[in-house]
Amino acid sequence: MAPRPGPPRLGADHPCSTRAKGRSLVIEETIRTDIAVLGGGLAGICAAIGAARQGRKVVLAQNRPVLGGNSSSEVRVWVCGATAHGIHLFARETGIMGELFVENQFRNPEGNPYYWDLLLLEKVRAERNITLLLNTDVTEVDADGPAAARVIRSVTGWMSGSERRITLEAPTFIDCTGDGLVGHLAGAEYMTGREPRAQFGESWAPEVPDQNMLGSTILFYSKDVGEPSKFVRPAFAIDVAAAGIPEHRVIRQDMKGCAFWWIEWGGELDVVLDNERIRDELQAVCYGIWDHIKNSGEFDAENLSLEWVGSVPGKREYRRFVGEHVLTQQDVLEQTEFEDRIGFGGWSIDLHPSGGVYATEPGSKHWHPDGNYHLPLRMLFSKNVSNMWMAGRNISASHVAFGSTRVMATCALLGEAAGIGAALAQQLDVSPSALAGEHVAELRRAMVRADASVLGVENDDPADLALRAEVRASSTKTTLASTQSAGTVPLVDDLGLVLPVDPVLDGIDVLVDAESTTTLRATLHATSAPQNYLPAAEVAEVSAAVERGRSWVHLPLAWKPETAQNGFIVLHANRELAVHRGTWVEPGTVTMIHRELPDKERYTEQWRAWKETLHGSGICFRASSPTDAFRPEQVRGGYARPYGGPNMWVSGQAGEDPQPWIELSWAEPVQIGSVEVIFDDDVNEDLINLHHHRTEAEVMPTLVQDARVEVKVDGGWREVARIEGNRQRRWIADLGELPVQRLRVVTQGAAASRETRLVALRAITA
Ligand SMILES: Cc1cc2nc3c(=O)[nH]c(=O)nc-3n(C[C@H](O)[C@H](O)[C@H](O)COP(=O)(O)OP(=O)(O)OC[C@H]3O[C@@H](n4cnc5c(N)ncnc54)[C@H](O)[C@@H]3O)c2cc1C
Repeated sequence: MAPRPGPPRLGADHPCSTRAKGRSLVIEETIRTDIAVLGGGLAGICAAIGAARQGRKVVLAQNRPVLGGNSSSEVRVWVCGATAHGIHLFARETGIMGELFVENQFRNPEGNPYYWDLLLLEKVRAERNITLLLNTDVTEVDADGPAAARVIRSVTGWMSGSERRITLEAPTFIDCTGDGLVGHLAGAEYMTGREPRAQFGESWAPEVPDQNMLGSTILFYSKDVGEPSKFVRPAFAIDVAAAGIPEHRVIRQDMKGCAFWWIEWGGELDVVLDNERIRDELQAVCYGIWDHIKNSGEFDAENLSLEWVGSVPGKREYRRFVGEHVLTQQDVLEQTEFEDRIGFGGWSIDLHPSGGVYATEPGSKHWHPDGNYHLPLRMLFSKNVSNMWMAGRNISASHVAFGSTRVMATCALLGEAAGIGAALAQQLDVSPSALAGEHVAELRRAMVRADASVLGVENDDPADLALRAEVRASSTKTTLASTQSAGTVPLVDDLGLVLPVDPVLDGIDVLVDAESTTTLRATLHATSAPQNYLPAAEVAEVSAAVERGRSWVHLPLAWKPETAQNGFIVLHANRELAVHRGTWVEPGTVTMIHRELPDKERYTEQWRAWKETLHGSGICFRASSPTDAFRPEQVRGGYARPYGGPNMWVSGQAGEDPQPWIELSWAEPVQIGSVEVIFDDDVNEDLINLHHHRTEAEVMPTLVQDARVEVKVDGGWREVARIEGNRQRRWIADLGELPVQRLRVVTQGAAASRETRLVALRAITA
């Protein structure tokens, strides 16, 4: 029987490995790569993949047996990101994190933690440029140079269970250890605790600095075993009732896993040095809560048993390295537009009391930015260690800003950016600082090409021949209308309809039921930034008479902005009226509900009345004027995600165009090496599918499933690439080196949608 292919093994014959000293005591090995990534949480995984996809040889060392860090089955934190549980629209991450979200949705809609581990492992193993070292704890760093200009020469780790001491030599190192051990041993400048208000001018920072930080957490899962199951409380468990925990925290017997995020402690200790003590305390709290659920008599928990209790404390915060830029509260809330932006965040600034589970104040406080904010490359490399990058929770951010960047989808995209940045700096032979400065155009192109999560960065890549092509399509959607009713929503709260205004809006009609003759007041607003979906400056107001009964009401809200952008129409509350829900969400549109928030959320910073959407449907409406928002040229250059509009080509409906195609043509033949297609995977769907909530569709319904690339040869179309059963956003078709004058992508339409949607079509030069 032929041996089965396995993961890359290290041995004397391994290209990266040399056995220096044989087997006398322990095996000493040296692995030389272009880039060494230390720590295999989501930041480290994405850093390694990001660099490997740029053609660099990478080693990824992870000190535990599974990948994923806090998201892994060992800790089980759910992966959140810029969508902020759906508060931010069109905000889901793309790039490697986006691939993971979409693939996990298909393979693992129930959020099984082991399937997630598997997905991460498979993703890393799929990259032939990555050497993966599990169970390898990096504990030594060889670095030299003066304090202001340190250089890391190598790092060394112990592979537990294998008696191997492995030295990693590389010109570039990326510290993704979370705790920042590598940078610390290398002499990198870092911050811990809470900076004083005066240092960065942050209103949420304390007047006086301290060493308090967010604490660590251990989670647990329970299950119904179908028959009575007893629990005998261990002597070390905390009496949680006596400790006052149930008075200040919600405990229900159906809560599991990350719903207990507030089992947090250690923020007033040294989260790393005191890790063992913190674990003991957290387990004592977990078992104490479980005893309370099982034995207090307050819960219907007789048939419940413990299924899993964490043994590795999930750490939230420790070192934050100082980079060329320190991200601050203002950068998050004012959405600073960095030239060197390489990604976006969107989670609220989410800070916790340092007393953790024993604190009497709420377990967290939140301050939401108005929309996604930008993240600069300069927060991803050390200020004083010339060859050290960092990604994840140890990046260059103030304690307050870190309160937002720390969520894992954001850590992941920062990892990808650090990987791409490190690789590109090597390719261009420039410093990280120069990459963020005079070479920023190359950086931005690499990020766009990787379909990274960047906002407002246009594709201007000279290697993309599509930028010089004519574009035409078999059909194009020119109307915005959702006219079939799926029931009604009483207009007891204001409703907001976001829709693209490109180039004009000439009013809309809405379908309503009126209990009596009344008036519908509507206002039209600009949004405060292209990535924000909140009403800002008012541009028009109308009051329309409404007859009793059902009718389409015309609202003559007209607007011709200087450049195409989103408009936000508010239908003001009127208890006499109900607005019809549509059966369909038009691309680029979303309907929001304005909710008065409960008193406890009514402090200024948290106020966010527009945060609920009519998920899966919008209101019944029809725009009076045609739209150019979906023109074929949208696939060429421009932005590859919603930003001031949907930024994609949308074909006519399947009934009129069953096999929509889009064509690029050139005046003279061009040499094309590959065609890169980005399909619309609906970045408005919040895919927090790891233990948190379940999205119904396993494959995003807006995705094109079957498509082919054809080139015109001798008067006929010849197929050169095909994809079937697609479930990802990005498709790269390698054409070798093909002279082409006309090229088209022919699609079979999307799975359940009525038309084809393409975000980008790139023809990369051979
Ligand atoms: C209980 C809890 C709740 C949270 N809630 C959320 C949430 O709801 N959603 C969300 O997205 N985020 C949440 N966070 C934050 C988030 O989990 C972290 O910020 C995130 O995991 C940081 O990612 P990372 O890759 O930098 O670090 P980690 O996930 O900590 O990964 C670092 C990895 O490096 C490895 N490592 C460490 N030292 C070494 C070494 N010396 N050598 C080799 N490997 C090493 C570790 O084993 C680990 O696997 C929460 C955190 C906690 C603890």
